[in-house]
This record gives sequence, C-alpha cells and structure tokens, in this order.
Amino acid sequence: MTRFVHEPARQIDVIRETDVLVVGSGPGGLAAALASARAGAETILLERFGCFGGNITQVGVEGFAWYRHPATIDSEGIGREFEERAKAMGAAMPEPQSISHSLDAEAFKVVADTLVEEAGVIPMLHRLFVAPIMEGDTIIGVIVESKAGREAILAKRVIDASGDADIAHRCGAPTHKHPVDEMMSVSVMFSMCGVNKTRFIDAVKADPQTYGDWAVGGEWDVTTDGKEDEMFSPFLRKPFKAALEAGLIPPSLATIAGTWGTVSDQGDLTYLNMVHLSLDGTDPDALTHGEMAGRKQAMHAVEALKGFMPGCENAKLRNFGMTLGIRDTRKIDAVFNLTADDVRGEARFDDSIGIFPEFIDGYGYLILPTTGRYFHVPYRTMLPKGVKNLIVTGRTIGGDKVSHAAVRNMMCCAVAGQGAGVAAALAVKTGRGFADLDLAAVQRELLRQGARIN
Ligand SMILES: Cc1cc2nc3c(=O)[nH]c(=O)nc-3n(C[C@H](O)[C@H](O)[C@H](O)COP(=O)(O)OP(=O)(O)OC[C@H]3O[C@@H](n4cnc5c(N)ncnc54)[C@H](O)[C@@H]3O)c2cc1C
Repeated sequence: MTRFVHEPARQIDVIRETDVLVVGSGPGGLAAALASARAGAETILLERFGCFGGNITQVGVEGFAWYRHPATIDSEGIGREFEERAKAMGAAMPEPQSISHSLDAEAFKVVADTLVEEAGVIPMLHRLFVAPIMEGDTIIGVIVESKAGREAILAKRVIDASGDADIAHRCGAPTHKHPVDEMMSVSVMFSMCGVNKTRFIDAVKADPQTYGDWAVGGEWDVTTDGKEDEMFSPFLRKPFKAALEAGLIPPSLATIAGTWGTVSDQGDLTYLNMVHLSLDGTDPDALTHGEMAGRKQAMHAVEALKGFMPGCENAKLRNFGMTLGIRDTRKIDAVFNLTADDVRGEARFDDSIGIFPEFIDGYGYLILPTTGRYFHVPYRTMLPKGVKNLIVTGRTIGGDKVSHAAVRNMMCCAVAGQGAGVAAALAVKTGRGFADLDLAAVQRELLRQGARIN
C-alpha cells in the first residue's frame, strides 16, 4: 500500500517578474532566450545545472552539424551562430565526417555565457523548475527549488525548453512517451586524454569505417537511403569486438560500439558515444541505475580502446558527461504534429519558422542530407493543447518517430528555439496569445534575426 504525506500550503516569495521565462538552456532554450531578448522582451533563462548549453555542455554532445555536406541546404540563424561563434572563440574543431565544426563541450560553456550576456538575457542557473503557477488554464509563472529553497518567478509568457516537456506535463497538457524498449537509447558520454593523434588517425585511415558498418544486427540495425552506406563514419566496433574475444570485457557488453568526435593535437579524444542503455529518462531510479551501470560500461570501453585501438595505448579517461545523455522522453501532442512524410517529403508550411535539412538519425533510421532536400519547421508543432501562454521548443515538439529523429537534432532544436523566442517576445509586445499571433510579423522578425524560413 502506498503511504502518503501531506505537504502543507505555504507562502512563496516572488523573486522576479519578467516578460519571457525560458526553462532549460539546451540548443532549444538558449536559442529561444537569445531570440526573445533580441526581439526586445525582458527574458530570463532558467537552468537546473551550473552552465548553459544542455546536452552540448552537460553531456558532451559535440557533433552539432555532422550531417552537413557540400550540397546540403542548411538552417540559418542562431544555430549557425553557435557554430561560428564557437569557431571564433576557439571552441570548435573541424568535424571528421562532414564540412562542419564540432563544438568543444567545455569551451562552449563560455561561448554560451558570452552570448547570454551580450543579448542582455537575465541568467538564472542552479534552479530547478518544480511546478507551474496557473490561473485557470493560463500559466503565469513557475515555482523553482534551489539551495535558497522554494521561490516563485512570474512571467507573461513561458517557454518550455526542458527537453522533457516538464512544464507542459505539469500544466496538464497532453504528452506521450514511447515504451522504454522503443525509446532511443541513453548514453554515458565520455572523453579520453593522452591519445597519440597520429597513430589514431593513421589507424582510422588504414581501416575506414562506414555508416553501413553500423548495421550488423541487433540494436544497430539502420535503415538508410542506400547512399549513406559507403560513406565514411568515425565509427568504432572492431576494438570492442577484439576486447570481447580476448575476454577483456564481458560478453554482456557486446552492445559497446559507436562514434568518436574529434581528436586534438593535445591528445583529447572526445564525444565518445559508445555506451547505450535502455531506460526512461524521467524515472529517477532508472536514471540512478543508468548513471552507475553506464560508467562501469564506459570504463570497460576505455580498457578496450587502450588494448585494441592504435594511439590509445597510453590514454586514460578524461571525463564523463555531467549527467546521462537522454535522447528521448516526453513529446507534446501539439496543435499540429509533424510526420515522417513531412520530413521525407520536403514539406512546406505557411507557418514555417525555419528550415532543416532532410537529416534523420534515430529510431533505426539514418538519412543524410547530401542532396539539398529540406523541410519547413511549422510553428504549430510548438503549441501544446489546453494551456495558454506556454510554448514548447527543442526536442519535445509535436511529431511522430521519424520526424523526431529529424527535429531532435541540435541545429533543428535551435531553429525551433529561435522561433519560440521570437513568438514569445511578440506575444508580449502585442498582448496576444500564442494561438492568435500575427505569424507574418514573427517571420519578419526571424528574417531580421538572420533565420531562413523558406
Ligand atoms: C548521447 C547523445 C548523443 C547525441 N548526438 C547528437 C549529435 O551528434 N547531433 C545532434 O544534433 N544531436 C545529438 N543528440 C541529440 C541532442 O543532443 C538533443 O536532442 C538536443 O540537445 C535537445 O535540445 P533541447 O534544447 O531540446 O534539450 P537539452 O539539450 O536536453 O536541454 C534541456 C535543458 O533543460 C534543463 N532542464 C531540464 N529540466 C529542467 C528543470 N526541471 N528545471 C530547469 N532546467 C531544466 C537541462 O538541464 C538542460 O540544460 C544526442 C543526444 C545524446 C543524448
């Protein structure tokens, strides 16, 4: 039988009031806050951890545009600015499989701080959103928890960029999660140092791996267009297979394999995406187990690389991501839900807030945008049902599995984020609800901010 306690009602200090409150600072939330502030709204960016950047800086997801090839027609706007600014600030490295740059997860923390300060966004780190403040079906603010206890922040418009649709869910808006065995996997990300770059790169060149090598049965089965299969991928399975055969890692860890990001002249091998777990990223007990079991697996992966990957003989673990890498949890059931046909069929929408190439990675699909195909990201995918003054952005916008395998990518999260930020600022300025906005005005402001919407 479940036991209960009663939490007594209490009075909570309102510590701030603002125009636009963005909860969560991943590529979606960071872009949203910058866009909102640049559109003239007083904007708070609220984040539970000690740095902005979400999966980029907290997990170590550095491959911001690894899909980009010469013929790719790419998004523009704040996402591109992340990459360009990172390059200018020494926080990016050429990415090995594309014509893009990989972000440096650590140095990008400073890039994000700089962008936030320059735009005049009010930074609020170390505060966890715990509950919405509602007036009927309208959100008017949030309650946060921190070392300072419980505090209230009031806002004219709220942007849910939590990656898990935490705010929409707590407001009672319809959201859904796939069963755990259908969710995209969860990863403990790690990096190594002390790698001999020349030996490592020589070994990669001597035995180049392809996207086709991802698909050898089990959870790595991948559906492609065929054009991807022979293309180079910075993928490693052979060292782990050798370590299994040598008994260095246990047979239960046959799942260890995956991609590396960059190797620096100083010997840092980063963005090691090798450990794949199956769990629900909104369940703290599952997260606890996943963090600990995933770290153990990562240490086996380090040993396997030291033993069987040239250049890694004298390397060691440099760091784990600050937290598990979660790809897939709640999505909103939006006013309009994007479909596989939309992202595969170059959909065009009147309410486009940006474009994203036909890049699909997840749920067993890998389609690379090598041919210039792209789709419009519609505004309505960010509108939750049943809650006023709330807009949702980043990887939790409305859509089916294949469309999520596209929109979850960080550049697309930034596209959606910029759209949500501009929409929230204009909603405050005009006193309108998200459902009644003048979308032509939103699109004009997005164009002024450098986004591409057609
Ligand atoms: C291991 C891994 C590898 C990946 N590889 C790639 C890749 O190569 N390329 C690519 O484009 N994408 C990749 N992705 C996907 C991509 O990282 C995410 O889909 C993307 O970061 C989602 O952006 P977001 O802004 O929606 O959310 P997130 O980046 O998840 O950011 C959400 C933010 O909200 C904060 N937050 C959450 N809840 C609260 C709360 N209650 N209160 C306050 N703050 C809160 C979090 O701390 C975080 O900062 C990968 C993901 C993982 C996990």
